[in-house]
Amino acid sequence: MTAAARAACVIGWPIAHSRSPLIHNYWLKHYGIPGAYRREAVPPEQFADFIGSLAARGYAGANVTVPHKEAALALAQPDEVARAVGAANTLWFDGALRATNTDVEGFLANLDACAPDWGRGLHNAVVLGAGGAARAVIFGLLTRGVRRIAVLNRTPARAESLRQAFGPPIETAGWETLSAQLAEADLLINTTTLGMAGQPELPVDVGRLPSRAVVSDLVYVPLTTPLLRAARARKLRSADGLGMLLHQAVRGFTLWFGRKPEVTPQLRTLVAADLASTAETEVE
Ligand code: NAP
Repeated sequence: MTAAARAACVIGWPIAHSRSPLIHNYWLKHYGIPGAYRREAVPPEQFADFIGSLAARGYAGANVTVPHKEAALALAQPDEVARAVGAANTLWFDGALRATNTDVEGFLANLDACAPDWGRGLHNAVVLGAGGAARAVIFGLLTRGVRRIAVLNRTPARAESLRQAFGPPIETAGWETLSAQLAEADLLINTTTLGMAGQPELPVDVGRLPSRAVVSDLVYVPLTTPLLRAARARKLRSADGLGMLLHQAVRGFTLWFGRKPEVTPQLRTLVAADLASTAETEVE
């Protein structure tokens, strides 16, 4: 590595499954940037020390994934987005160690790419799930002025805590109202783990959605979830989880390596092939 080379990493526990090295190393090679992006397996009890020594280890910054996203918030100076979401996934040095959450812009940029006018005249969004990903999605929708967001979750108390955190545009509703909610929805977003390989299917009848509706699924293993397949069969516009994963990586690369990378069909094909081979392994 040359003296100018920079390095970044993804920190998690476990970390073997992360696609971030594939994405960032593709961009480093594609743009001819001397640098490195590595996996760092760090258990929770060592996370604070690892972050304290990030610069000494030669890192310009890092991605942070499960189970460290909340802890990272407390160890860095978070921006408004990370504070609102309650979790950080991207760290970089700017005098101090800063933190943000790029799931928000990843979600929005992917929708913008897949359904460019999705926000025009959008009144009702339905969010399924109330975990960490739902917080990022809701914050993103609010920044785009969505007027009503119905949050449905298996555990109603978690949906209620989102309503309290984000205020009046958020309404909570029970799963039994799903059918009625769908009939009014301009945008449906699955942020639960349902539909993921090894998990039960999401019980949604997309036939209830109006033809103007856009469907977004954050799950990316499998790439085409049963929800997305049903939406496409109905010719509804849709945005998949892989697109969000790729778009959320743009900001970190820009911060660490000094060039804004593009999410291209070639990158998508590369990561999709890796996901497909992993899904096959998981099924075996
Ligand atoms: P999380 O905090 O653990 O939340 C999981 C959500 O799924 C909760 O709302 C949970 O409901 C719900 N759920 C789990 N099992 C369920 C079941 N059997 N029936 C009904 N609901 C169930 O996870 P997360 O971090 O938000 O991630 C959620 C999904 O988003 C994952 O598939 C993750 O891979 C994906 N994601 C994708 C991206 C991307 O870039 N594409 C980014 C972030 C996350 P309860 O509250 O009732 O437990």
